[in-house]
Amino acid sequence: MAETREELFYTQKHISDTIGEAELKESDTYCARYMDFLQKARTERLANAEAVRLAKAYGFCEFDRNAPLKAGDRIYKSVRGKMLLLAVIGKRSLAEGVNICAAHIDSPRLDLKQLPLYEQNEIAYLKTHYYGGIRKYQWVTIPLELHGVVALRSGETVNVNIGADPSDPILYVSDLLPHLAAKQSEQPLAKAIPGEKLNIILGSLPVRGDSGADRVKLNVLKILNKKYGITEEDFLSAEIEAVPAFPVREAGLDRSMIAGYGQDDRVCAFAELQALYEVEAPEKTAVCVLADKEEIGSVGVTGMESHAFECFMGDMCAKQGVELRHCLESSFCVSADVAMAFDPTWPEVSDMRNTAKLNYGVGIAKYTGRGGKSGSNDASAEVMGKLRRIFADANVTWQYAELGKVDEGGGGTVALYMGNRNIDTVDAGVPVISMHAPYEIVAKLDCYMTYKAMKAVYLSK
Ligand code: MN
Ligand code: MN
Repeated sequence: MAETREELFYTQKHISDTIGEAELKESDTYCARYMDFLQKARTERLANAEAVRLAKAYGFCEFDRNAPLKAGDRIYKSVRGKMLLLAVIGKRSLAEGVNICAAHIDSPRLDLKQLPLYEQNEIAYLKTHYYGGIRKYQWVTIPLELHGVVALRSGETVNVNIGADPSDPILYVSDLLPHLAAKQSEQPLAKAIPGEKLNIILGSLPVRGDSGADRVKLNVLKILNKKYGITEEDFLSAEIEAVPAFPVREAGLDRSMIAGYGQDDRVCAFAELQALYEVEAPEKTAVCVLADKEEIGSVGVTGMESHAFECFMGDMCAKQGVELRHCLESSFCVSADVAMAFDPTWPEVSDMRNTAKLNYGVGIAKYTGRGGKSGSNDASAEVMGKLRRIFADANVTWQYAELGKVDEGGGGTVALYMGNRNIDTVDAGVPVISMHAPYEIVAKLDCYMTYKAMKAVYLSK
């Protein structure tokens, strides 16, 4: 029977007060790896490529649906270069279900329009269409880099990469000078920077000796053609993303935090990956999902709603003569997406009793959504209980993470799409400060704890 206040009260502890020296070192090693990954994984395609490169180094092979599959096998399948599915085959039958960790590798950004290039008053520009939930005022007057692919008429594909190398030029979206911004400053934040003004400055020099129109545009096209062999029409079949060119850095005098772009949700994606890389011969098959398109509703062929997931899982089940639906029915999924970290500068949006804080561990959420939990997965008590058990057994520090006060706003994850598949699913991830900003902050100890959490999920029985 519980009698003392220690036994009766639920109290949360700062990780720093409970973690040992050996684990602190492990956390530092882990976070250095994560920072390296984040620096390379600037887009969903680049995250996919880096994850595959690392997976190969950890003994993973591309899944061959015609080859035999046995316990201990390590496989991956890249879905159109933008979604990644990996698995370590367990000792037990897939009929007993699998343990899934599902994160996403797309992040808010500025996509180039399909006819982006124009010249206005002797400056060449690229028009953009923002992707995901951005606060538009945060994307002006910061250094930007471009990444993506151009699919040529020949069937060949060209990779675009401008600005990532420190010797490259960066790109830029302008804003008004304060001297002349009196009217703009009276606008609500959401309206002060209209989407059609998020135009990227691409160049300012005309072609010398040319007397035709649009000489600056012609000059940048010449540069692009020389570098990539492309012409203006090729933008039609291109997918080019402008992302912040800020380097990933340690943050805080005590170096306790990490600043970087796209930590929603690459911080959980990497936790899942590193944990899976280190899993060998688990009881149940461990599956890592890195989905695309979460930030715009998990849509499309590479989003979590896509049957690409069923295709991969179904192929594995067929190898063991197991019905896919029976495997899914017995499976368990953690939707690993970032939580909101309490921000003491903006306390008014949080319910202090239910919010996640920096350095208190992986944040778990029974539900997300908005209003009356609309658009959420709302995990059952039993599923929450199972997760508590898994984390307690593996000594994982966790905390509860509700996304802000009721009726303050809200958000979603891939959790409901896993729930739709008849898979028990719950949300858990790293708390983030300034989520969706061009530069986001997380605490190193929370990153490490989330990696430990993912490993515990893969190894759970
Ligand atoms: Mn997310
Ligand atoms: Mn997000």
